[in-house]
Amino acid sequence: MRKYNSLSKKVSINQKIRKDKKDSAILSLEHLNTIKNDSRTEVIKFPLFKEAFNYVENIFPSLNIRDLSIYKVSPILLKKIGYNGVGGFFNTLSKDVVISSYLCSQNSSLKFKLKAEVDDILVHELLHYCYNISGMKSTSLFQIEEFAYGWSWGYLKSKGCSKDFAIKYNFSPFLAGFFYEKSFNWVLEDKGINRKDFDNYTQYRKNRFYLDNKIKIENKIFEYCYALGEDIIKRYELKMEEKTTYGNIKTSVENNKVSLLDLDD
Ligand SMILES: [Zn+2]
Repeated sequence: MRKYNSLSKKVSINQKIRKDKKDSAILSLEHLNTIKNDSRTEVIKFPLFKEAFNYVENIFPSLNIRDLSIYKVSPILLKKIGYNGVGGFFNTLSKDVVISSYLCSQNSSLKFKLKAEVDDILVHELLHYCYNISGMKSTSLFQIEEFAYGWSWGYLKSKGCSKDFAIKYNFSPFLAGFFYEKSFNWVLEDKGINRKDFDNYTQYRKNRFYLDNKIKIENKIFEYCYALGEDIIKRYELKMEEKTTYGNIKTSVENNKVSLLDLDD
C-alpha cells in the first residue's frame, strides 16, 4: 500500500507507528466492494499503462501480470471510505489491485511527501500482487513493502528518476514511519534528556519539546531513511542484474532478513 506519512503533532510516536501498520494491513472486502460498485471506478487492463505492466511482467514472467484487471478509483471515494491520501492497494484476500486515479495534493509543510505518478503506484501494487501470488509470506510489513519498493526502483530509474529523488519522494514517506522513535530518542539523547524523565513531562511540555525540535527530528529521520533507501537500492540493483527468475527471487527475499536487523521495529 502507498500511504503518505506525516509527523504526528503530538508525541505519540508508538501509537502513530502502530496506526500506520494497521492502516496498511487491509483494504476490507466491504470497502473493496464499495470501490468496485462505484460508478466512477474504471477497470483498466493492459495495454493501458503498458510500460508498467511490461516492467513487472519482465521480472515475473510466469505470473501473467498482463491479464490482470485493475480498479482505478476516485480519490474522493477513497477519502469518503476512510483512506485519505492513499495511492493504491493490493487486497490479499481477493487478490485485487486498486489504484487511485490521481494523487491529492498533500500538506506542503510535510517533509516526507510522496511524489509519484499513477503508473509508479501501479508498479508498486503489481509487485505486491507478485509477492503474494508467488506464495511469499511475511508477517513483517517492512519486508513486504521493501520487496515492492526495491523492485520498483528499476522502473523509476527507467523513467529518469534519480536515486536521490526516489529515496526522498518515493521511499521516505514509507520508511519514515520506522524511524520516528529512533530519531526522537536520538534528539533526546543529544539534548541530554533521559527518556524516562521525558515520559514524565506534562503533555504541554512534551508538545513544546516536539515543536522546538521538529526540524532536528525530521532531519534525523531522513538521514536514517536515506541510508536504508540506498541499501535497498543497492541490493535490488544486484538482484536486477542477476536477471532473476522467480526461484532465485524467492531466495533473495529470504536473504533480506539480515538487513532487517538494523531496524528497531
Ligand atoms: Zn506497498
